[in-house]
Amino acid sequence: MIDAVVHGDPSTADRTIAGPGTREAEWHGWSGWSELISIGLDDLVPEGTRLVVVAPHPDDEVIAAGGLLRLAAAAGRSTLIIGVSDGGGSHPGSDEWPPAQLIEQRRAERRAALQELGVRTDLVCELDLPDGGIGSARERLVGYLDDLIHDRDVVISPWRFDGHPDHEATTSAVQTVIAAKRPPRHAVHLQAPIWGWHWASPSGGQLPTTDGAVLHLDSTAHRRKITAMSCFTSQLSADASTGAPAILPDFVLQRLSRNREVFLR
Ligand SMILES: [Zn+2]
Repeated sequence: MIDAVVHGDPSTADRTIAGPGTREAEWHGWSGWSELISIGLDDLVPEGTRLVVVAPHPDDEVIAAGGLLRLAAAAGRSTLIIGVSDGGGSHPGSDEWPPAQLIEQRRAERRAALQELGVRTDLVCELDLPDGGIGSARERLVGYLDDLIHDRDVVISPWRFDGHPDHEATTSAVQTVIAAKRPPRHAVHLQAPIWGWHWASPSGGQLPTTDGAVLHLDSTAHRRKITAMSCFTSQLSADASTGAPAILPDFVLQRLSRNREVFLR
């Protein structure tokens, strides 16, 4: 079936995350791959600038930019990971994962994943906003980000139309903070689709490739990213106590384990 090409911003109804979403095999044939500018570390995060990855949940930094984080770490670039929520909302009603235990587990998973990427774990700033409620804590988030994001930083957050309310609220706050900074030393903001790969489709035209870039990962960065993803064990298996499926089942992991990462303006 050919989807209608979207003109203008996708609606909230378009951005529903349900079912298996768009399969990775379908994305293989996406025309956007040839429209995106192929870019390397030095172009994305020039020497002398700092890479800041803003992650709504523990794992989003690796999913969005694990390969870039690996390359930046290997090149000695200054880096900051901003963990926005505490991650305590991924298993509602679970006896297997009571929230306090889940929060500790997810912190440990993030640390292990960053170690796999060679990123220093003391470069993580955890804001501990409520998982599932980032939008309602927007004002606090803007205040935190205003302190943490500096001029000339290269800031990565999820795509503004990613579909997950926490992801979209996070990026909205980043946009507000960066818009208040003035050229010529303003920060650069790049947006990485995460759940956008799920709800959007190759024929739908929802992902804007104009000014977008693709980073091709070398075999080491790709391998390290996949190993880092495997550290998020709480997200990788079903919950027997609630019957809920894994947050990141195989069909999602296939999309997120590519050897290329996409960054949109
Ligand atoms: Zn997330």
